[in-house]
Amino acid sequence: MSLADNLASIEQRISAACARAGRDRSSVLLLAVSKGMPPELIREAADCGLSVFGESKVQEAKLKISMCPGRLRWQMIGHLQSNKCRDAVHCFEMIQSVDSLALAQEINKQADKQAKTMPILLEVNLAGESTKFGFKADEVLANLDAINALPKIEIHGLMMIAPWTPEPEKVRPVFRQLRELKAQCEEKLGAPLPHLSMGMSGDFEVAIEEGATMVRVGTSLFGSRPKVVKQARAEEME
Ligand SMILES: *Cc1c(COP(=O)(O)O)cnc(C)c1O
Repeated sequence: MSLADNLASIEQRISAACARAGRDRSSVLLLAVSKGMPPELIREAADCGLSVFGESKVQEAKLKISMCPGRLRWQMIGHLQSNKCRDAVHCFEMIQSVDSLALAQEINKQADKQAKTMPILLEVNLAGESTKFGFKADEVLANLDAINALPKIEIHGLMMIAPWTPEPEKVRPVFRQLRELKAQCEEKLGAPLPHLSMGMSGDFEVAIEEGATMVRVGTSLFGSRPKVVKQARAEEME
């Protein structure tokens, strides 16, 4: 299967999920998760019409962005360390993986230095899985006002990596919980939050049915990530 074939099939599945949920196709952004993928593949994806890419490591993204067409847009979806915030604010149009108040404060500081306002999502770990980053539900609400008060940060919504399961139906309640948490945040802020970033290769259709506005799809689009090649490539680029 070529990338174009993969994309056609994903598009068809997104449209069908939108139709089932009575939603417009334009209400869901397909974020192409290009972590671990070489610039040639990203250019191929761009030629197929994709324009927004997700990366999980700042160093890798920084190198690859310079090797890709300038019109592409990039979002950070991986755990961010505070010493990488300067580069992250520079490279990305949105940071989806804000998982602590301290990180939000550092992003705010770097955004101020770069005379920017940074759109962010708050990453939520609803199941409280120890292997994942993110605020627990009560922590999101507890930190919301403090993060919202940071002048160079704009909260655009919530992001979640759902627990892995071979049966996507099983995570439907978790997607629904995130949507409900977003509503609680909106009530607390007194303002709408446009984005709910949830759903990956294995579960994006259920996520769309439950209200996702962004689905982050990697392996269904690009194929499995070449781990060994990726490491060799990273070393090569350093
Ligand atoms: C890798 C990754 C994805 C994409 O996962 P696939 O299963 O390959 O589609 C989505 N979101 C985040 C945060 C990721 O790290």
